[in-house]
Amino acid sequence: MGSISQFNAHDYEVIARDYADLKEAARKRCTDQKELDVVQKAFEFANEAHKGVRRRSGEPYILHPIAVAKIVVSNIGLGYKSIVAALLHDVVEDTDYTVDDIRSLFGDKVATLVEGLTKIKTVLDNEDKAEQKSIQAENFKRILLTLNDDVRVVLIKLADRLHNCRTIEFMPEHKRDKILSETMFVFIPLAHRLGLYSVKSEMEDIWLRYKEPEAFNEITAKINRNVTDKDKEINEFIAPIDDALKAAGFRYEIRKRVKTPYSIWNKMNNKGITFEQIYDLYAVRIIFEPDVATKETERDQCYHVFSIITGLYRYKADRVRDWVNYPKNNGYEALHCTLMSHSGIWIEVQIRSRRMNEIAEKGIAAHWAYKKDGFMDGDESEMDKWIAKVKDILVSPDVNALELLDMIHNDLITTDILVFTPKGEQRSIEKGATALDFAYSIHTHIGNRAIAAKVNLRLVPLSYVLKTGDQIEIITAENEKPKREWLDFLKTRKARSLVLDYLKGERQESIKIGKKMLEEQLDALGYKLNDKTLNVLMEGYEIFESKPDELYFRIGAGLLKLSGLADILKKSQEKKSGSWGFSWFRPKEKKEDYVIDGADGKHRYVIASCCNPIPGDSVVGFLASDGTVTVHKKTCPTANNLAAKFGDKIVMPKWEHAKTQNLTFLVRLSLKGVDRIGIINDITRYISFVLNVNIRKFNLGTEDGVFEGYIDLYVNDMGDLDKLIKKLQKIEGIQSIVRTDL
Ligand code: MN
Repeated sequence: MGSISQFNAHDYEVIARDYADLKEAARKRCTDQKELDVVQKAFEFANEAHKGVRRRSGEPYILHPIAVAKIVVSNIGLGYKSIVAALLHDVVEDTDYTVDDIRSLFGDKVATLVEGLTKIKTVLDNEDKAEQKSIQAENFKRILLTLNDDVRVVLIKLADRLHNCRTIEFMPEHKRDKILSETMFVFIPLAHRLGLYSVKSEMEDIWLRYKEPEAFNEITAKINRNVTDKDKEINEFIAPIDDALKAAGFRYEIRKRVKTPYSIWNKMNNKGITFEQIYDLYAVRIIFEPDVATKETERDQCYHVFSIITGLYRYKADRVRDWVNYPKNNGYEALHCTLMSHSGIWIEVQIRSRRMNEIAEKGIAAHWAYKKDGFMDGDESEMDKWIAKVKDILVSPDVNALELLDMIHNDLITTDILVFTPKGEQRSIEKGATALDFAYSIHTHIGNRAIAAKVNLRLVPLSYVLKTGDQIEIITAENEKPKREWLDFLKTRKARSLVLDYLKGERQESIKIGKKMLEEQLDALGYKLNDKTLNVLMEGYEIFESKPDELYFRIGAGLLKLSGLADILKKSQEKKSGSWGFSWFRPKEKKEDYVIDGADGKHRYVIASCCNPIPGDSVVGFLASDGTVTVHKKTCPTANNLAAKFGDKIVMPKWEHAKTQNLTFLVRLSLKGVDRIGIINDITRYISFVLNVNIRKFNLGTEDGVFEGYIDLYVNDMGDLDKLIKKLQKIEGIQSIVRTDL
């Protein structure tokens, strides 16, 4: 990899400078000079191995492993073996050295780490075999499988990916998109799950900077302006807190934090609000050294700080978050509250001990470091539980790589909530889980026989979605059985697979019964159960499968009534028989097709209905085997999913102005404002008569003097839309108007 050329004096200078920087960081983490010597040896070895090789950027290649090692020690907090492995991570892949060479020089552990990293790299970057189903999904499976051996491999891989993101400007555009999408789909959720806050948020910001450069720049500029404007107010807010904590004898530091551009962008999009409407732009963090001399525990001291600051400022009762008593499942602990400053802005305050802060920033590694030091009690931590769960998924034999990737992805992004059993026992369960999921989480037997639930003593259906703090009692009946409809609302993987297993067993039984029932009925009507009859019936009952098992099953399970049998058979005889060439698959519904770029004339372009990009949006396309290219917004989650799995199918369509002029695209505008008589009428009249824009649908409602809703309308391009938004903003009463997802 990379080009070879002689290094000049400047190259050597840069290498020396970056390494000195790494060494300084490593010194703090290494326990003795011996360890530091091994780091030095690894650097010299790698430096020699990559000598004369440059990256795409033109820099000496060795700067990359140095940077990865720096992230490993500074952002993730790993020790010297990981630093050494990071320095050596590309040696085996890119040079003539082997894992055995590494083993004889640096020992078993380092060799195993480097081997794991080499395996991941070989599969991730191998594009030649990409036409096979999805090599990428297989790759991720391998990455995650390394969780099984040593989590450090995944952590170093995350550092490697972060540095590749930092230097992504040197990549060609289609490769950039593949890397960024993979990063969003797998690496960011993984970093989040492993609690690596600083790695995660830097990746997110880079993702946004390249996927939505305009939004990124606008938000960044606004943050900078706001920070200078409000800095004085924040300092005035902090001053009394500072005095009070000092008076109470705490040892602490206070840090000012601003939300990251990505988290602001995300909030604006998800909630359909403008930058100005984000009220928790600022956070103040209080990090204290727990005083071991007092009787107060670390936890008590968090509440002590809370009580001091809420004595100074009014707090928002519904915004207190207690992750001290109930740590998040990535191990995060802190006490959050939102206070009203004397100048009238809401400021979030995060209270953490030094230990909690380390865990919040560096995640898993810090977690284990403290555990070793005896801070954690013998309990399995949330993090360990999660890793055990991932291992569980990884070893299930009958999932293919693509399903597995989706499963892991879902598992990475879901969070847990806390609920209670009737006896007041605390249980954590996936957010969005239903009462029935809860039943299965207690015991299969309870799930299988559930008929209803009592939540907080009120009777609810099994599909009831649980909320934090709910107390759930499951009502069962002895001869109840799992039902197929349950799959429509069950959320957790465990419950779903238990129900599916049950139904599978039932299914074989039902198929047998169904086939027998059908034979008898046909017999009575004078027909025989043969291929010809089966074809007619499957067509008639709209079962688009290749085998008749599904038909038998539905009959046997009572999902399909045979009362219409005679009609179907009769109707098919009326039709001119002779050719039996049914197509077994229902043709997919075709959306209106828009040609967006005719440059090569080879492909047909289709606008993706999940994100509905319009001319001017940053877009990415996916080439299907029939030559059709589906065009998504670059930020579309579906597009990220596809790009992460099928990176080789990415194409970069460009909007072509002249050709799109006569086409219109559907967008949604979400509006909010102060209600006055006739405002809704004003808005719709204004859009359709004055601006002459075609409204497809609108949905505006008012409540307590505030109106809120959306309008779906057709526009030509981004320019059109911008103009429209600017004009609508002038209508009296409208407070915010933004484009949101349809
Ligand atoms: Mn690398």
